[in-house]
Amino acid sequence: MRFLTFTAPGESSPRVGLLNAQQQVIDLTQVAGKPPFDPRDLLSLIAAGDEALAWARKVAASSGQAALDPAKLRLLAPIPRPRKNVFCVGWNYLEHFAEGEKNRAAKVDYPAHPVFFSKAVTAVMGPYDPIPVDATLTTTLDWEAEFGVVIGKGGINIKEADAMNHVFGYTVINDVSARDIQRRHGGQWFKGKSLDGTCPMGPHIVTRDELDPASLGIMCRVNGVTKQDSNTSYMYFKLPRLIAELSLGLTLEPGDVISTGTPPGVGSGRTPPEYLKAGDVVETEIAGIGVLRNVVCG
Ligand code: ZN
Repeated sequence: MRFLTFTAPGESSPRVGLLNAQQQVIDLTQVAGKPPFDPRDLLSLIAAGDEALAWARKVAASSGQAALDPAKLRLLAPIPRPRKNVFCVGWNYLEHFAEGEKNRAAKVDYPAHPVFFSKAVTAVMGPYDPIPVDATLTTTLDWEAEFGVVIGKGGINIKEADAMNHVFGYTVINDVSARDIQRRHGGQWFKGKSLDGTCPMGPHIVTRDELDPASLGIMCRVNGVTKQDSNTSYMYFKLPRLIAELSLGLTLEPGDVISTGTPPGVGSGRTPPEYLKAGDVVETEIAGIGVLRNVVCG
């Protein structure tokens, strides 16, 4: 199943939708019968677990549900405000680690464990929202196409063998990064990656049963020119390892989001470096999930 969060024309409050076989949106607030979750909040659906999925599956299978044209709706991030910062993984594609070498002051060995950092929840925005760029804050805004994983069943100290049972589904994320801010503050990966509007997400979440994450194309295009073109099969630390290590002594909750790292082809790794400017159109795609399309606005 594919879930999304949207607002209806003329409204501002979010609703949860389910895509039907015709790629039309079934508004879960309008389905007859009380759902076992709040149909205005995808976090609530995710937290309700199997019961919610069974209810949604019945809705998807029943004919005659009124459906909306997604082109007429404003899509928000599937989870407009996660419970926690979006967890991110640095350097999870070897070629991306290598392309960053020239920007590092000292030689760094490839880490033996995943490198984690996070993006502020206020950075999250919808799949077609504009990416704001303020030239007084940053002149080196960069793209990072990433495969996003949404936690279903929460847990702590999750074992690798059990990790995939804790996944709700998958989505597309761009970990938009202000490189100058990233470097100015001691090379950390928080401040430079947490500006408002630097975490476009969506367009929906595909449930785990529908998609094999082992080998999915991952692409980023800027103004129609392909900048990143890779595959999730090149992820160094795979999902079970990421979930196991992240959850060591740290409780993962339903709806937590993990962005699993970017492949090579980011702007700062290019010669000469390339950065986003007002008017640029950034398209971020994961095969089998969908495409984010964000215009940079100054
Ligand atoms: Zn990233």
